[in-house]
Amino acid sequence: MTIPQDADARRAIPPVICYPVETLPAPDMKMLDAARTTLVKTGEVTVPPRDAATFTVPAGHFFRITSVEGSQVGDLNLWNANDLNERFYSGKTRALHGTHITRGQRMWSSFPALRPMATLTHDSLEWYGKDAFGGSVHDVIGTRCDPYTHQLLSGGQYHHCCHSNLTRALASHLGITPLEAEPHVHDVLNVFMCTGFTRDTGQYFMKASPVRPGDTLEFFAEIDLLGALSACPGGDCSTVHSSDQAECYPLLIEIFAPDPATLENWRSPSANGYDRTHGA
Ligand SMILES: [Zn+2]
Repeated sequence: MTIPQDADARRAIPPVICYPVETLPAPDMKMLDAARTTLVKTGEVTVPPRDAATFTVPAGHFFRITSVEGSQVGDLNLWNANDLNERFYSGKTRALHGTHITRGQRMWSSFPALRPMATLTHDSLEWYGKDAFGGSVHDVIGTRCDPYTHQLLSGGQYHHCCHSNLTRALASHLGITPLEAEPHVHDVLNVFMCTGFTRDTGQYFMKASPVRPGDTLEFFAEIDLLGALSACPGGDCSTVHSSDQAECYPLLIEIFAPDPATLENWRSPSANGYDRTHGA
């Protein structure tokens, strides 16, 4: 390995933010906060431990994920309820907002729509910030635990990874086979999960989630949503996942309708304006 003479000078160049968000359409949090004070519950779904469940939320309604019984991490998938090809885009959400998301930030959808699917309206773990290890909560860096990586690293057939849980839940919601449902399952928002990258090797790490029963993460549905949430077999993700070893608990999903008068000036975002000719 040859180290160039100006190596230090090259390393000393300051970074530039890839996607400055000053021009990103921002949610009207004042309006959403006002709407939040009028919420009426319209339904709920309980996600069993080491399993997943689906739920639907009309555009303009809210949904809330709550820790019940014990510290538990959830893996969330979102689709446009009217077109499963439009789904949560974890990578672009990360590029726009950073490695972890909280109140005031959004879950963005895949190309070509690239629009806000959901806006985070309340996060009871917002106080956590970033810890001394560089860890934070609700990441868009992990993918989801899955039986393929498990097979690669440990061998064996484990059927209750989040990937499989989400696949089974979506299959049963749509009345299709798991094999048909699987391609729709995508990289998740890791709800309540505490993660980061190690400073020395840059490896993805997890640590015991700070979530406690009663903690919530709340979302405003910007478009009609179909969601699926898996209660990860890793439980609070303090030790292992992809097995039945960790203590696991259910997660509660609740759907709420606001007083429509509070959203008089709100419009569901339209799909991205790029003309899709790609210069051809
Ligand atoms: Zn998982």
